[in-house]
Amino acid sequence: MNAETAISAAALPFAVPTSRWDDSVAGTLSPAELLLYRSNLLGSDLTVTNFGGGNTSAKLTETDPLTGEAVEVLWVKGSGGDIGSMKLDGFATLYQHKLLGLEQHYGGPDDDDKMVGYLPHCTFNLNGRAASIDTPLHSLLPFAHVDHVHPDAIIALAASSGGEAATREIWGGKIGWLGWKRPGYTLGVMLRDYVAAHPGVEGVMLAGHGIICWADSAKACYEHTVQLIADAANYLNAKLAGGPAFGGRAVAPHPDRAAIAADLMPRLRGCMTGVRRKLGHFSDDAEALEFVGSVDFARLAALGTSCPDHFLRTKIAPLTLDPARLQDDAYLAEQIAAYRAMYAAYYERCKRPNSPPMRDANPVVVLVPGVGRITFATDKTTARLAGEFYGNAINVMRGAEAIGDYIALDEQEAFDIEYWLLEEAKLQRMPAPKPMVGRIALVTGGAGGIGAATAARFLREGACVVLADRDAAAAEEVRAGFARQFGADVVRAVACDVTDEAQVKAAFDFAAREFGGLDVLVANAGIASSAPIEQTTVELWDRNFDVLAQGYFLTAKHAWPLLKRMKDQGGSSVVFIGSKNAVAAAAGASAYASAKAAANHLARCLALEGAPEGIRVNVVNPDAVIRGSKIWDGDWRKERAASNKVDAGEELEAHYRNRSMLKRDVVPEDIAEAAYWLGSDLSAKSTGNMINVDAGNVQAFTR
Ligand SMILES: [Zn+2]
Repeated sequence: MNAETAISAAALPFAVPTSRWDDSVAGTLSPAELLLYRSNLLGSDLTVTNFGGGNTSAKLTETDPLTGEAVEVLWVKGSGGDIGSMKLDGFATLYQHKLLGLEQHYGGPDDDDKMVGYLPHCTFNLNGRAASIDTPLHSLLPFAHVDHVHPDAIIALAASSGGEAATREIWGGKIGWLGWKRPGYTLGVMLRDYVAAHPGVEGVMLAGHGIICWADSAKACYEHTVQLIADAANYLNAKLAGGPAFGGRAVAPHPDRAAIAADLMPRLRGCMTGVRRKLGHFSDDAEALEFVGSVDFARLAALGTSCPDHFLRTKIAPLTLDPARLQDDAYLAEQIAAYRAMYAAYYERCKRPNSPPMRDANPVVVLVPGVGRITFATDKTTARLAGEFYGNAINVMRGAEAIGDYIALDEQEAFDIEYWLLEEAKLQRMPAPKPMVGRIALVTGGAGGIGAATAARFLREGACVVLADRDAAAAEEVRAGFARQFGADVVRAVACDVTDEAQVKAAFDFAAREFGGLDVLVANAGIASSAPIEQTTVELWDRNFDVLAQGYFLTAKHAWPLLKRMKDQGGSSVVFIGSKNAVAAAAGASAYASAKAAANHLARCLALEGAPEGIRVNVVNPDAVIRGSKIWDGDWRKERAASNKVDAGEELEAHYRNRSMLKRDVVPEDIAEAAYWLGSDLSAKSTGNMINVDAGNVQAFTR
C-alpha cells in the first residue's frame, strides 16, 4: 500500500494537546505575566487554537493611579493580534466595577453595537489597547481566570447535530451547552445567566463557535482548557477510528497535482477581475486531499464554514471545480462568473437597510478533487491564512460528521457578521494598501546587485517577488534577508539558469504555484566579457548570446502565457535590463555589445507583439554600475581596467564617474528605480521605450 491509498484507509485524527506548563518559568512571573504566559502557551500550540483565535483574561488587583486604592481590573486580550505571539501590551485593561455597571445601558439584543461604544469608558490606566467585542464574555463571568478558544476538535462538537449529546457523554454535566449566538454583550449576559442557573459547571460549549472555561488560578485554567480539548479530540478520534472520513474516497490524489495547480492558478487569477489583483496560495496537504477527494465532498463544501473565525476568512462558500474541465478557459470563466452572481444574490437576500455596499464577490477558496485547495486574496499572507482556516473548517466537518450532521453557520447570521457595521468602520480606517500589493514580479539574476536592488524596490511597494538566479545558494541568502525585512510570505527563491529552457519554464511554473501568476518580469541575468575581435572565440561569442540574447528570449517566452492573463486587469510589464553598449558601440567587447543590442531589439519586437495582450515591454540601459555587481567582480573588471589603462580599484570607478556627463557614480538602486517605474502602473502608457541610467553618456543618446 502506498502513502496515497493510506490516506483513504482511516480518517485523519485530531491532535491531542498536552500541558506545556513549566512551574520553573511560571514561578518567576507576576500575575499579569502569568496571564501572558498562559495565553502564549495556548496560542502558540496549533493543536489548541488557530491563528489569532481565542482570548484569555484574568481579574487582578491593581493600584488605581489616581486614588492609590486597590481596584479590581480585568486584563483581557485586546482587539486584533494573536494570543500566541502577543505581548503584555496586547491586553486591554478595564475597571471591573465599571464593566459590571454597563448593564444599566443594556436594553436587549439590539443594543450589542451600542454596548461596544461604552467599553473605552471603562479603561484602566489610560491603556490605549482597544477592548474586543468578546470582553463582556469575560467581565460578566464571576471567575478569576477565563479562557475562550476555538480548537478544531471543540468546534467539531459545537457544529454537529450530535454535539450537545456528545458534550453530555464526554463531561457529564460539568460542561454546559449554549445555543448559537453571535459574539457580543448579549452572549455575555446569556452566558452569565446560564452559569448562574447551573451551579458547578466548569465551562460552556458555545454552539457553532467554541468553548469558554475558567478556574481559580492561571495554571489551573490553562490545564483545564488543554484537558477539555484533549477530551474532545480523544472522543472524536475514537469515533473516527472505525473507517474513512467523509464517506470514503471518490477521487484519488492526482500524481501531477502541483503541475495542475501551476497551470490552473494564473488562469483563475486572470478571471478574478476587481479593484485589486489576487495572490494565490496552493495546498495539497493530507486534510485537503482527504476532503476534496471524498464521497461527501460536494454536499459538505456547499454548506460553507461554521465558526465565525473560519467564515470571515473563507467567505460564505468555496468554489468547487470539475477536475475534468480545468483546461477549458470558458468553463473557468463561467464558474467564476457564477460564483460572483451567487455572492451578489446572497448579498441581496440578506442585506439590511443600513448595510455597507457589497464587497469583492470573487471566491476566496477554490477546491478541486484530486488536486487540493487554492485560496486567493489581495495579499499573500491573507491568502495563506484563508487556506489554513479552510483546513480548520475541514477538520471541523470531519469531526462533526463523525458524531452527527455538520451544521454550517446560518446564512443571515453569516451575513450580519460579514457586514457588521463596526467591522466596516474598522475596514474604512485601514490605511490604503501600497501600490504593488496584489502584484507578482520575477527577477532573473535576482541574487546580484541590480537584481536584488530591483527586487527590494518592488517588495517595498508591496509586491511579491520571485528571485530567480543560477546561483541557488546566493538566491536563498538574498531571500532569507528579504524574508526578515518584508516577511516570509512575500518572497521566494528559485534556481534558474536562463540558458536552460527547462529551468526557465520551471521557474515560471514555480511563480504560478507559489503566488498564482505573474505581473512583472525583470530580465536582468547577465554576464560580460571583453576581448578584441581576433581573440573573440566562437565559445565566447555563443556564451554572450546564450545568456544575453537567448536568455532574455527564453524568459520573455515563458513569462508570456502568465503575463497575458492579466489583460483584463490593466495588463502586465516586461523590463529588460539592457546596457549602454546595446546602443553605443564598444571597442574590445563586440560579443557582449552585440548580444545586448540583440536583446534591446527583441524588446521592441515584443512591445509590438505584446500590446494587443496588454503586455508592455521596455528597457533600462545602465552603464558602469560597479558596486554590488557580480559581473564586475571577476575578469571583466580587470579587462575593462586594462582596456582603459587604469587600476581595477577606485581608479576604475573614478574613470567611469569622470567619463559620465554628470560626473556621478551609478549604483544598483538607480537602475532599480527605473525598473520599478517601468514595472509599475506609473508607466502604464509607455511601451517600446529605453531609459538610460548612466549619469549621462552622449554615445547612448537615442535618436
Ligand atoms: Zn470566539
